[in-house]
Amino acid sequence: MTIRFDGRVAIVTGAGNGLGRAHALGLAARGAKVVVNDFGGARDGTGGSMTAAETVVEEIRKAGGVAMADGADVSNYEQVRAMVEKATKEWGSVDLMVANAGILRDKSFGKMELSDFQKVIDVHLAGTFYCCKAVWDGMRERNYGRIVLTTSSSGMFGNFGQANYGAAKAGIVGLMNVLAQEGRKTDIRVNTVSPTAATRMTEELLPPQALALMKPEAITPAVLYMLGDNAPTRTIMGAGAGSFAVIKIIETEGV
Ligand code: ADP
Repeated sequence: MTIRFDGRVAIVTGAGNGLGRAHALGLAARGAKVVVNDFGGARDGTGGSMTAAETVVEEIRKAGGVAMADGADVSNYEQVRAMVEKATKEWGSVDLMVANAGILRDKSFGKMELSDFQKVIDVHLAGTFYCCKAVWDGMRERNYGRIVLTTSSSGMFGNFGQANYGAAKAGIVGLMNVLAQEGRKTDIRVNTVSPTAATRMTEELLPPQALALMKPEAITPAVLYMLGDNAPTRTIMGAGAGSFAVIKIIETEGV
């Protein structure tokens, strides 16, 4: 892949593990300065220390890349703003945002507590909104920005036990639809990736043979493509098992 990100500053949320880690490593290997965000909590969103993010930063530095760790909880707007301010102070701008942080609180709808719904909406949907909001003005001022949001087939087709997650992931497509249009006034492009990969989130759901084919790194090329200068506008990109395909190009005008 020849795409490069020299001189660009990226934030990848939830980058201590799985997909986010793979995206952060891919960006750094291609020249971006990367904020590796992770609050380091348990999969249900509780607890937290950013050790996982610090470990990924070490990996990037060992490979000759430039990165810093950040422990913001994406469901807390003040913390997200502080992360963007820190990156801007250190490196001058935030040009690329990958909103990837996520948790699961799967339960059949009858058993789902209001708190299970609220927590997942807070992290995925509000958290994604906050990440966009915190970088938006800066991107508009500099007339450049690339944002990739993480959706899921669960948001489009539905998965048992995921009323909370599916609603949040469908909402993320709704957010992308508006930001992609408003961003067009300046050179801000907002797209979504719908990944199928073996991560902490999917390991309990899929058989080992399937997981072996689904490395998180297989998703990264789709994300890097949507972060590049020639990114599409308003696309849902399905990615998995070493290939990626457009699920839906909503519009291409302006590309
Ligand atoms: P996947 O790679 O499929 O997204 P993972 O569970 O491996 O699933 O990775 C998600 C990452 O998001 C985890 O490292 C987790 O700590 C992080 N994360 C979860 N909630 C938050 C949050 N509120 N703020 C920042 N990071 C979070």
